[in-house]
Amino acid sequence: MSKQRLVIIGNGMAPGRLLEHLFEAAPDAYDVTVFNAEPRVNYDRIMLSPVLSGEKTFEDIIIHGDAWYEERGITLHRGEKVTGIDREARSVTGASGITAQYDKLVIATGSSPFIIPVPGHKLPGVLAYRDLDDVDGMLRAASRGGRAVVIGGGLLGLEAAAGLKSRGMEVTVLHLMPTLMERQLDPAAGYLLQKELERRGIEVRCGANTKAILGETEVEGVELEDGTVIEASLVVMAVGIRPSIDLAREAGLAVGRGIQTDAALRTSDPDIFSLGECAEVDGRVYGLVAPLYQMANVAAEHLAGPSEAAFAHAETPTKLKVTGINLYSVGDFGDGPDREDVVLRDAARGSYRRVILQDNRVIGAVLYGDVADGMWYNELLKSGEDVSAMRDTLIFGQAHQGGASADPLAAVANLSADAEICGCNGVCKGKIVQAITEKGLSTLGEVRAHTKASASCGNCTGLVESVMALTLGDGFAKKAEGMCGCTGLGHGEVRRLIKAQGLKSIPAVMQELEWKTSHGCAKCRPALNYYLLSDWPGEYKDDQQSRFINERVHANIQKDGTYSVVPRMWGGMTSADELRAIADVVDKFAIPDVKVTGGQRIDLLGVKKEDLPAVWADLNAAGLVSGHAYAKGLRTVKTCVGSTWCRFGTQDSTGLGIKLEKFLWGSWTPAKVKLAVTGCPRNCAEATCKDIGVICVDSGYEIVYGGAAGLHIQGTTKLGTVKTEEEVIEIAAAMTQMYREQGYYLERIYKWADRVGYDMVKAAILDDLDSRRAYYERFVFSQQFAQTDPWSERVSGVDKHEFKPLAVFGEEAKTPASVEPAE
Ligand SMILES: Cc1cc2nc3c(=O)[nH]c(=O)nc-3n(C[C@H](O)[C@H](O)[C@H](O)COP(=O)(O)OP(=O)(O)OC[C@H]3O[C@@H](n4cnc5c(N)ncnc54)[C@H](O)[C@@H]3O)c2cc1C
Ligand code: SF4
Ligand code: SF4
Repeated sequence: MSKQRLVIIGNGMAPGRLLEHLFEAAPDAYDVTVFNAEPRVNYDRIMLSPVLSGEKTFEDIIIHGDAWYEERGITLHRGEKVTGIDREARSVTGASGITAQYDKLVIATGSSPFIIPVPGHKLPGVLAYRDLDDVDGMLRAASRGGRAVVIGGGLLGLEAAAGLKSRGMEVTVLHLMPTLMERQLDPAAGYLLQKELERRGIEVRCGANTKAILGETEVEGVELEDGTVIEASLVVMAVGIRPSIDLAREAGLAVGRGIQTDAALRTSDPDIFSLGECAEVDGRVYGLVAPLYQMANVAAEHLAGPSEAAFAHAETPTKLKVTGINLYSVGDFGDGPDREDVVLRDAARGSYRRVILQDNRVIGAVLYGDVADGMWYNELLKSGEDVSAMRDTLIFGQAHQGGASADPLAAVANLSADAEICGCNGVCKGKIVQAITEKGLSTLGEVRAHTKASASCGNCTGLVESVMALTLGDGFAKKAEGMCGCTGLGHGEVRRLIKAQGLKSIPAVMQELEWKTSHGCAKCRPALNYYLLSDWPGEYKDDQQSRFINERVHANIQKDGTYSVVPRMWGGMTSADELRAIADVVDKFAIPDVKVTGGQRIDLLGVKKEDLPAVWADLNAAGLVSGHAYAKGLRTVKTCVGSTWCRFGTQDSTGLGIKLEKFLWGSWTPAKVKLAVTGCPRNCAEATCKDIGVICVDSGYEIVYGGAAGLHIQGTTKLGTVKTEEEVIEIAAAMTQMYREQGYYLERIYKWADRVGYDMVKAAILDDLDSRRAYYERFVFSQQFAQTDPWSERVSGVDKHEFKPLAVFGEEAKTPASVEPAE
């Protein structure tokens, strides 16, 4: 039977889950095409807050990377907003004119953030909180410091406020209502939450009505209805969302608050489904993931074949993802004449709990501080059990019922098999136990991979581990997370065993360390390739196929599928000849854009893939080599003009930068490495946000390290001061080598130093001369195999196949992991 065509509009969390189920249930039923207005793959939107606060990176929160789509033959049009649905022709059309025919259509357009239309709401510096672009905008604002005003004291607003605070901004939260999160928390819990936020230095103003956002060309402040003016360099509006229904309305589908569907998620057109935040089922719309995932399961079953599956409303508990603040709220906690409240307050511990009963049944619960019993109350709520018999002890929690011991595991043991453990993913205890016993799972990573429990916000991780402990008994040892689904071993363990067992190839590692897959995956292969390269210089041969596209073709892929080429300019210096050669290349290959990067290099943007070897050949002929702007290796050594030209320069910072770059370039490192040498403490080369920085001072050279200025912003830590250039070079090389030997793949120097400890690094590199010398010598040894210019190699014909024009551009090329900034 020929496949039907399934088109999906929107690539958010709901359709992501729908596709998983559909491909499990009916792998060959559909040719799938997905349109997404966002220019990226499917990611876990609820984890944007940990990305904002710096606890995770975007790569950590991708749910389905490019390979996933490729393996299933799904066509994904990213950055392509659908502008029209033609129900007669059964087709949809995107903004750039791409059209797709459908037999079945799914509309999953999510919601749009609501922006209060007060004067000034369009000023630059006013952001919503919905997607990665918003997070990037907040991070950029945070890097400039100042005060952020967050309008909205609900879940999102408070997560944004906590994230911005942890990024170093002063933060004020404005909330219209008298207490925070009033839709989820009662006033007592809201008060405790406010106190905790204020204790963390976040200013909270409840009952605050925004009148205007002030500023001429950008945000300067916020004026309240009572005339108060609060200075601000960033305003985040987190005041609510509206289902995105315009497209459906224009197509003539029935809409109310959302796109109206029946319990099978079918809209008024039986061939069109809708799910996620844009859908309205039985008069309700939803804004939390658990019900959306339930919708996805139901819709998938109907798309897979005839089915009785029906969506049913269920209360979803709310949690706030701010590290260290525990609150849990579920059900209805409004006052009413037929309702009874049971409250327990422990002022000393800042803990509060309230259970709401109606007809002796739990209908709501609010917990602040100690939330361990939240799930148990939720179970009572869902089951509708009569709780009269435990009325007196109910508020003390499950451990106090029926003489059960206070052992925390006892509470989990008492949970029924269909007790929900992971709210985000709707995984119950029985499913976890079944997966553990049937599939022989023993690590948290494996349980996550097989059941998805705790794979989203992670708040239930402790519970999942308790279920594992109960099921596995002595066999459960909390193990380090595996580096990917192919192994239960963590990066550190894999690195140790490669050395200890003398493993010198990817197949050897996979065989000896009992990989669970035949060839590994996009996470472990590049990591293993790096570990082997760094541990066995000269012996191990680089495996090109284990590299992301940018490193395979030695240029950065850009959003339209062309490449950018960055010639190396040692220490940021260039010459008339080099500039002339660059200008000639630009003319000859009609390169549309030439840009100076933040790292003092020239970026040639818009080069066709098949032109790359010829572009390199011409640049090579003028003496220019690859700047490795794509590499997990040395990128740039930024310099200022130092004593050669500047009135303040104390040393030859440019000369030292050039020496460092010529010494260090070409070596592979766990993640990119950037250096800077600045001629005096005025710091024009911005050494204090680099992986390694050198600040020239009258008495010599101050060496700093562990800075970052990308998604994560962090100032450097001082290593020490030395007297000579030779010492600087020796220390920079030794530190790079220590990082090469100990770093986990994709772990930047600051993360590595955070993990192993700055004292450790200082002791090994600055204080202990023998240790420094040993690292230095190992670095020098490995450099003899590293300093080959990949461009000239490719010009001479190596890996020719990579540069043939492709009929269909490989989507794999665009994984965020491989899209590297140009510096
Ligand atoms: C910062 C943040 C934190 C959150 N935290 C939690 C939490 O802790 N717990 C929880 O349960 N929920 C949380 N949520 C809510 C949760 O993320 C959403 O409910 C969920 O992601 C909605 O999924 P969806 O698939 O309906 O829509 P979305 O994930 O919003 O996806 C919709 C997609 O459709 C695309 N689109 C829209 N129109 C078009 C068009 N015309 N053509 C093509 N594409 C289009 C959009 O670009 C978007 O990518 C959070 C949300 C945010 C923003
Ligand atoms: S850092 Fe110092 S030497 Fe370098 S340009 Fe600035 S002032 Fe001059
Ligand atoms: S070059 Fe860098 S800053 Fe610019 S868009 Fe790319 S990643 Fe972002």
